[in-house]
Amino acid sequence: MKVVLENLTKKFPNRNKKIKDYVIAVNDFTFEIPDGKLIGLLGPSGCGKSTTLNLISGLEKPTSGKIYFGDVDVTELPPENRGVGLVFQSYALYPHLTVEQNIMFPLGNLKGSEKLTKQEMKEKALEAAKLVQIDGLMERKPSELSGGQQQRVAIARALVKMPKVLLLDEPLSNLDARLRLQTREEISRIQRETGITTIFVTHDQEEAMSISDMIVVMKDGVVHQIGKPQSVYDDPVNMFVAKFLGTPPINIFRGEVKNGRIYIGDEDVLNIAEPKKVKEGEVYVGVRPEGFILNDKGRFTCNLERVEVMGRDTSVVSKHDACENVTIRSIVSAENNIDTDAKTVKFDLKPNKVYLFNKETQDRIMF
Ligand code: ADP
Ligand code: MG
Repeated sequence: MKVVLENLTKKFPNRNKKIKDYVIAVNDFTFEIPDGKLIGLLGPSGCGKSTTLNLISGLEKPTSGKIYFGDVDVTELPPENRGVGLVFQSYALYPHLTVEQNIMFPLGNLKGSEKLTKQEMKEKALEAAKLVQIDGLMERKPSELSGGQQQRVAIARALVKMPKVLLLDEPLSNLDARLRLQTREEISRIQRETGITTIFVTHDQEEAMSISDMIVVMKDGVVHQIGKPQSVYDDPVNMFVAKFLGTPPINIFRGEVKNGRIYIGDEDVLNIAEPKKVKEGEVYVGVRPEGFILNDKGRFTCNLERVEVMGRDTSVVSKHDACENVTIRSIVSAENNIDTDAKTVKFDLKPNKVYLFNKETQDRIMF
């Protein structure tokens, strides 16, 4: 089921009632979510992710704008009539019910011609449980399950009615690192197997990048960029998006464009291929960690702090007065021999890993 958001806006009255003001939680969001895809909705806490999801589910009414499921306008439709499955960070299982009863629960509300017999409900619950591989735990109570298993029950419960759209709001946040990794792969598999259009909300860029067909990057209610994870990483529209994606994060320097070159401090670290296209002046220079090439005669000199061995790669940690990050992190191949006693380290930069941003607007400057 394709989901269309059209100029979707949600304003909340300010929580401090004395101020006659409002928060724009979602600001003019327009996007067509393709049928059968997994979309990662990504952004820092408070950027409007949950509100967007609640608008799509119908738990919140938009201040303006429209939502379509396929060609049907569902903006005024109550949540129970939209055919959405919801999973939250807190699993919200019924503690006194068994796993099977928890999964079956939404089926008990079906009325009229949709009403199911007990046997049909049990079969559907088993099907959903198999999908998330908890069919061996049907008689247990939630308190007898691990966090990861509880979250699977919550996912099975959201899937049992075969929703048109599956909405997941930070579903992995309560799990430990290993389970998080495992469960996110499960979600990706289930999504591919069922082909249900899925929106996955997270503040964790790595999580979103790893399983999404497309990511939507939000900040302060505004969508900054939508695209395939790799293209958003390779082609961020502004410094916020560039900084939000990638571990270790992009290194940001105060720099200058002058004489057809990019300067950081006194060093001209990179030539600009078509200097006429770029205005001279102060800029921010972003360099991805993988954009550094070790070279004794390199054009960019940094103060070496330490070298961290990571197996296949080596992380060179250094400093520079013009760097906005506490330390510069560069990832180089472990085959490099680095003199760890040296005071400085010299690099050349890979042009396709260097980004320029406007000093005021922080928008990307193409060069
Ligand atoms: P996220 O899920 O990305 O952390 P939310 O969608 O929960 O963000 O919130 C977006 C903004 O809207 C925040 O500034 C939040 O304080 C505000 N907000 C969310 N729900 C309400 C509400 N019911 N009343 C007032 N403000 C709200
Ligand atoms: Mg939230």
